[in-house]
Formats: sequence, structure tokens, C-alpha cells
Amino acid sequence: MEIVVPDEFQYLYVQDQERPVVKIPHPILRQSCTEVARVTPKIEKLIDTMMKAMKKANGVGLAAPQMGSGLRLFVMQPLEMKPMAVINPVITEKHGEQVGEEGCLSIPGLYGDVQRALKVVVEGFDRKGRGIALELEGLPARVAQHEIDHLDGVLFIDKVDLATLHWVHPGGDPDDEEN
Ligand code: ZN
Repeated sequence: MEIVVPDEFQYLYVQDQERPVVKIPHPILRQSCTEVARVTPKIEKLIDTMMKAMKKANGVGLAAPQMGSGLRLFVMQPLEMKPMAVINPVITEKHGEQVGEEGCLSIPGLYGDVQRALKVVVEGFDRKGRGIALELEGLPARVAQHEIDHLDGVLFIDKVDLATLHWVHPGGDPDDEEN
């Protein structure tokens, strides 16, 4: 699907120091990422950069291609959870379903409902290269599924319920619930 960014949202699509996240239609957002062979200082630096960018943008998750890197890793910080990085993530279990609103820092201003698994188990490696298995449910499970999709070049607009797709100004629209 081709997203046409309305004029009043165009300023959000500029990529600069203030807004370092890669935006559509940058081709890296549509590429499949490659596995991280080893956690090097360069990878740790990328994770730090991604953590900073996620916090600055008030995001709950960010995948490496959104920082212009073609590596399989993402960071997340949903709600009360501690911020964490997952390297070479794989979903090994999926249970149930949930429907909820999603947005994406690479498609700022656009939101819509996406159906996801309610619970997932994500296996991978932490920033120290130690194996991890995360049991996630609800929002954290949604965030992980959204971010892992990014690593395969898949965006939420590919899965969104089109009838619910809508634009919201960052300042907030009184008619829209903040999510
Ligand atoms: Zn996203």
C-alpha cells in the first residue's frame, strides 16, 4: 500500500539530528535484515543509539533498520518494563490474539488497529550476547511482534485493518484516544 503523507504531516518525515529515525519510503525499511554474528562494541554502540532515539521519540520499541542498520536486533521499553535489547530475535511460540492500535516511528502520525498474537515467546540474545527467552503478553507481546516484523521488511500498514487507519497530530487530536 502506498501511503500519501498529508502536507501538514510532512515536517515529521524529515530525517535530521532532531528526528534521527528513518522514515518511509526509505528502502531499508523494506529489506530483510541479516543476523548478528557476534556482539561487538559497534553493536553495543548501535543499541545505545537506538535506546536514545526510542526515548527521545517517546516510542515503546525501535528496530535496527529504523536507525539505518540492516542487522537483526531491536530495543523495546513497553510500559513499566526495563528497556531491553534483543539480538537475532525469533518467535518460538504464539498464543491467542489481540487487536489494538499501533503506530510506527517510521510512519509518524499514522495509526490503526492490528491483530497480533496475545502471548509470544521470543528467543534471542541480550546485549551481552547471553541467550534469553522472553515470555511476553499484551502490549509487550505486540511491541515485540511489530519490531520483529521490521527485521523482515514488514510494516504495520501491511497488516492494519484499513478501515481504522487514521492520522493524528503529535499534539493530539481531542477526537482521538492517545495510545
Ligand atoms: Zn515500527
